[in-house]
Amino acid sequence: VSEGQRKIIKRCWERWKERVHPVLADLRISVVHNDANDHNVIIKPHGFFEASGFGLVDFGDMVHTYTLSELAIGAAYACLDKPDPLQTAASIVKGYHQVFPLTEIETQVLFECMVMRLCMSVVNAARQKQEMPENEYLTISEQFAWRTLGRLEQIPVGLPQVVFRASAGLPPHPHKHHVEAWLRTHLAESIVPPELSDKTSLVFDFGVGGTDLGTEDVVLDPEKQATYLFGKMKQENREYGLGRHGEVRGMYHQDVFKFTGTQGPQWRALHLGIDIYAQPGCPVFAPFDGIVYGVQNNDGPLDYGPTVILEHRMEDTQDSFYTLYGHLGTGSIDSLGDGTRIQAGEQIGAIGDTRENGGWPPHLHFQVMVDMLGYEGTFPGVVHASESTIWLGICPDPSLIIDVPIESNEIPSMAATRKDRDQFLSPSLSLAYRKPLKILRSAGQYLYDDQGRRYLDCVNNVAHVGHANPKIVAVAANQMRVLNTNTRYLHDNIVEYAARLTARLPPPLQICFFVNSGSEANDLALRLAQTHTSAKDIIVLEGAYHGNLSSLIEISPYKFNGPGGEGPPAHVHVVPTPDVYRGLYRQHEKNPGSLYADKVREEIEHIQAKNVPLCAFVAEPLMGVAGQLILPENFLIESFEAVRGAGGVCIADEVQIGFGRVGTHFWGFETQGCIPDIVTMGKPIGNGHPLGAVVTTPEIAESFLTGMEYFNTFGGNPVSCAVGKAVLEVIEEQRLQERAHQLGTKLLREIQVLKGKHELIGDVRGMGFFLGIELVLDRDTLEPAPEHAKYIVERMKDFGILLSTDGPYHNVIKIKPPMVITEEDLQFLCDTLDQVLQDSVLQLRCPTI
Ligand code: PMP
Repeated sequence: VSEGQRKIIKRCWERWKERVHPVLADLRISVVHNDANDHNVIIKPHGFFEASGFGLVDFGDMVHTYTLSELAIGAAYACLDKPDPLQTAASIVKGYHQVFPLTEIETQVLFECMVMRLCMSVVNAARQKQEMPENEYLTISEQFAWRTLGRLEQIPVGLPQVVFRASAGLPPHPHKHHVEAWLRTHLAESIVPPELSDKTSLVFDFGVGGTDLGTEDVVLDPEKQATYLFGKMKQENREYGLGRHGEVRGMYHQDVFKFTGTQGPQWRALHLGIDIYAQPGCPVFAPFDGIVYGVQNNDGPLDYGPTVILEHRMEDTQDSFYTLYGHLGTGSIDSLGDGTRIQAGEQIGAIGDTRENGGWPPHLHFQVMVDMLGYEGTFPGVVHASESTIWLGICPDPSLIIDVPIESNEIPSMAATRKDRDQFLSPSLSLAYRKPLKILRSAGQYLYDDQGRRYLDCVNNVAHVGHANPKIVAVAANQMRVLNTNTRYLHDNIVEYAARLTARLPPPLQICFFVNSGSEANDLALRLAQTHTSAKDIIVLEGAYHGNLSSLIEISPYKFNGPGGEGPPAHVHVVPTPDVYRGLYRQHEKNPGSLYADKVREEIEHIQAKNVPLCAFVAEPLMGVAGQLILPENFLIESFEAVRGAGGVCIADEVQIGFGRVGTHFWGFETQGCIPDIVTMGKPIGNGHPLGAVVTTPEIAESFLTGMEYFNTFGGNPVSCAVGKAVLEVIEEQRLQERAHQLGTKLLREIQVLKGKHELIGDVRGMGFFLGIELVLDRDTLEPAPEHAKYIVERMKDFGILLSTDGPYHNVIKIKPPMVITEEDLQFLCDTLDQVLQDSVLQLRCPTI
């Protein structure tokens, strides 16, 4: 045992004597099991998500002692080597308290008891090592215990008690109400001149979904943020801008996050102070008499820049509370030292500018604490929203001091939104995930939920050039300010956009129609084909989906052969899915593409045998909802030839896959070496703006001129076309197609490595940023593993990554992220997937035992 380790034990023993000894007589006593570790617990799993039938074994250590030991021992074991031991302990305390309520004194000393249990482990191990050096088993938990003791020692001394009180449903700090009452009855000096009031200040909404945050480029750049916020203040003729206390914000995610074993990454999001935006140099005054508790002149670990903390004594009880002033100017606090007496109204510093205040737009972070909890010189100002009860229980609302009423911007809870959704919307609109998400903000490849948690979006191919892309947002807003109307007037946006779009397509595809969605595009494609051929019969691929309009449900086997479906109408002919993994013809065949094309040829013969003309063949050149399938070589080229030979039109549905996603080419059909007669586009085309397009040949467009006008109120409007044009520009400027090719190829390789490690992965396939992972219970029988897929997607969400499943058996995990996703993000995806695939629960063959 090293000298340092001896010192740890000594400190823990001193703390035990100081905090636990005096109250031992107040602790309850009973018989306890005395060894609740994870080797002694039995549970019975029910599928992947539930467990029941809880039990304990090994009663050899039972004793009659302090009842609290049971919990202290269990919690100490559970904390061993956990990334956030206090949070782990807190969840155990919460569960324990629900069944067997703790007393207030017990919450007060639990932490010291846990620490003492670990001390006993390491002390025993040290002694046994001397007595029986060859017995390794005895010291098995020693290293874990030392590491955990080291971590527990880092926790500020007052924090565990507050955390455990909150877990037990008690007010986190017994003095908070007293401090609040004192603040209500004592008049404060103004902390800035001129005095803050609702006339001089403007309240900003920095909530996760708040509109005062601006796009991500503004959030990440203090200068831009300052221009934006101070511009708003000027516009409204206000001296100050105020940021709310207790607000869950979407602006701190560039911070280091906390990765907890059970919850995945969390970012600090909950603001504990009030912000006062004002010109740099604005003096800051003490609201009450006090003494300087801490001064920090440089960037603190919590990123405040120069900070002052004052202690104020309440004359009635002699208890103290504290006020914190962050983001001050470097030179402005030089005269202060710990212990300096400060009078109410005396200047303590000045608001710093961006260069000196820790890199923020000029503002004061003003916070109140009822207890310093053992923190020195600094105190958390923004914390994880999941810990809101704890921290808001320590940090009262500073508007009690500044005396400006600030209306809450609290948003409805998940449960309330869910209830309203159930009341007003049809249940046929399904929600993703077993535990749904409330998503409020986005930026690039990320989405943010109501708790400020960031999720890596690996599935939203609509946000092609990134969620809330600043260029797209600006283009849309700018055009919206000027004009948005229908296509009955000449306008350059629509013609310029059509020229740009057709420039990306091979020659005969020149005539554009603009619509509002992928479905509308496919519906119009059907009309074009029908008028051109004067026929109705259509050939489609099994498993395909082409949209939500009635005309498209009719040609989507995914729907008409799925739940609630009524089978195909007479004019729709289904050919087998060209799936070389589990389809009719597989990889080992010599030319599976040709064999699948034979099925198209056969179907044409059937149609012709009935003396019915053929209208069209519709296909996605890489299939999406059918399970992220790459079609075998020659399939489309041969099918197109046969269809054209029978007088039919070939429609390529590029709604999911177009615009460079597949990496090697701009369009999916190019990967098959063929040219369709009609191409339909949607989803990525407008980066989230409702836009769709149909591009066809002059010949087919000509046939559409029957005398009946084609009018579409919104399709092709100046705003949509400006957006569409900007999307094409961003794809080119940022070389996103090349990016999809390079990073997608690397990702595919990495996932193939995972396939080597995890039996569950049956097939990995795709191109660029359009990949699929098919899960099977048996690599020979290909028995699908939909429950496993569902579990993995849910767990990946818990770890901060969004994915989804599809395919006829719902066992294919889809990967189709915004194209701006980075190499680092993809590494995070692979590492997390590897970790989730190792989850012991997944080893259960049968989900229900
Ligand atoms: N075609 C395909 C291949 C699709 O996947 C979809 C939507 N999933 C559509 C068309 C319909 O597009 P939208 O929902 O935008 O109308």
